[in-house]
Amino acid sequence: MAEIITIGEILVEVMAKHVGQKFDTTGEFIGPFPSGAPAIFIDQARKTGSSSAIVSTVGNDGFGQINIERLKQDGVDVRFIRTVAEKTTGIAFVTYKENGDRDFIFTIKDSAAACITRDDVKEQIFENCKYYHIMGCSAFNEEMIAAIKKAVGIARANNAQISFDPNIRKELMENEKIKEFIDFALHTCDIFLPGEDELKWITGIWDEKEAIRSVMEKGIRYVVVKRGKKGCTVYENESSFDIDPYEVTEVDPTGAGDCFAGTLVSLLNQGKSIYEAAQFANAAGAYAVTKKGPMEGTATLDELQEFMNYIGGTTKCL
Ligand code: ATP
Repeated sequence: MAEIITIGEILVEVMAKHVGQKFDTTGEFIGPFPSGAPAIFIDQARKTGSSSAIVSTVGNDGFGQINIERLKQDGVDVRFIRTVAEKTTGIAFVTYKENGDRDFIFTIKDSAAACITRDDVKEQIFENCKYYHIMGCSAFNEEMIAAIKKAVGIARANNAQISFDPNIRKELMENEKIKEFIDFALHTCDIFLPGEDELKWITGIWDEKEAIRSVMEKGIRYVVVKRGKKGCTVYENESSFDIDPYEVTEVDPTGAGDCFAGTLVSLLNQGKSIYEAAQFANAAGAYAVTKKGPMEGTATLDELQEFMNYIGGTTKCL
């Protein structure tokens, strides 16, 4: 059984062909591309050398199949992906604005992705679990929240570590159930991976050091603040260090955070230091944005090492 496990949505992404294209005007789109934040995370964790599995649901269609085939090909344990006959696989449509922002239309709530239940979470899946990864974006209905909480309970009983990437839009923080879920995740996690704005919304504290103190008080071991093209900062106890970004040409930002998290958790699982794990995670996020398609930017450790040597020059080998 896998060492790293997550639960959440598997989707396909269909993306606008041109920057500036809008949803309310007919235009060309390309895809389907395998997607879903938990799926990208787990693919990356596997590609960087840890055994991994995802609990999820897809429709009985090509969109589900393209995902299962990709994950299987990369070595992810796909046995816990259930096919829901009466629903279609979730779809994310994305357009890109000139300023780099993105717009999304999701079909998740009416799709097979919304059919994950607590019964999908079975103790045997967690037999060998060392890290369970919570994705905030997957907490989109009550049964998903129940499934994630059940998974946390089983993972904890097996002495697994819990990592948490909120991956959440600001508006959702006004929903009481989501707020309660985020609070639960913060109190249970060992590793917290917010974006710099997410840290502010979640804590309600605009000064980063104070916000970090407030979450560390809950017993979190590492907080890693992701800053997009500005790199990231790792906080541990009273100390912290910044990691400079790699300078790359951004082709598609979707999936950078998931590749970052998958690499970080995978390397910690393999006994690497937080310093080494974060260096490679920083590279994985940068590498991901150079590829078009959310899961197209996942990479093996060799590919990341080559990228770091080529772009960064000095980073040492594992
Ligand atoms: P998403 O939700 O879109 O997957 P995120 O907001 O969770 O992403 P980001 O901060 O965008 O996460 O990216 C994660 C990490 O990847 C950053 O902290 C950084 O290390 C790296 N990264 C992301 N974008 C770039 C970029 N344009 N150039 C260099 N590094 C980047």
